[in-house]
Amino acid sequence: MRGKWWVPLLLLVVIAAGWAIGRYTAPSPSAGGSAATEQQELNGGTSTAAPGSEVSPAPSPSGAPGGNEVRQADTEPDSIGVIVNKQYGLEEGYKPEDLVYPNVPFIFKEKIEKRMLRKEAAAALEEMFAGAEKDGVYLAGVSGYRSEATQTVLFDNYVKRDGEEKARTYSAVPGHSEHQTGLAIDLSGRDGKCAAESCFAGTKEADWLAQHAPEYGFIIRYPEGKEAITGYMYEAWHVRYVGKELARTLTEQGLTLEEYYNAVPVSK
Ligand SMILES: [Zn+2]
Repeated sequence: MRGKWWVPLLLLVVIAAGWAIGRYTAPSPSAGGSAATEQQELNGGTSTAAPGSEVSPAPSPSGAPGGNEVRQADTEPDSIGVIVNKQYGLEEGYKPEDLVYPNVPFIFKEKIEKRMLRKEAAAALEEMFAGAEKDGVYLAGVSGYRSEATQTVLFDNYVKRDGEEKARTYSAVPGHSEHQTGLAIDLSGRDGKCAAESCFAGTKEADWLAQHAPEYGFIIRYPEGKEAITGYMYEAWHVRYVGKELARTLTEQGLTLEEYYNAVPVSK
């Protein structure tokens, strides 16, 4: 019996070691990581260096203590922050009820469907055009609201021309176009050159938009380097109204709507 005096001591050491190991290997409250942070890290390497778009370890977008709250994607069609993409479609036949004709120049004269936007977006667009003009930049509308019926005709034509796989990289399946929300519009310079074409990138107008659109509540919806997340090639001309607050948040944090809502990255 006298020889076993060390048994309780050994037990104590084992318990202490177990506690220490547990302490250093158990997940800390923050190690679960929010999906947003993980996505930011994943995309950090490919993000392009647009002004203000640097990806930083931003505080939780929700601002909740602990920061691990997962934001629900806004799929309410009438919401200014709605997400519409390859994954999230609009209910069949959705049409916004407050479409108006913004008082800005377009590259065509007719008062037709694609000249319209939702009221709030239209007012912001007018402000943005005025702001651009002050900087000597003359913008024009190319295509705003688009009904599901129009998108169907367009998409079918693209499929006939390029095949469905290719068409899907630049055109939305009906019900999945942001233009149907009345919150998105394609823009060009006043001369209409490179309207909704890749050569618009790098123009004075595109540069101005990249830098200033968020001040008016618009974002470049399909940025360069985020193709695998948005599911679309870079479109310097396609701006989406999300309101000033959300536009600022997205710009400051270098996030697409998909990343902001922790929505599953959309692949082609
Ligand atoms: Zn567009």
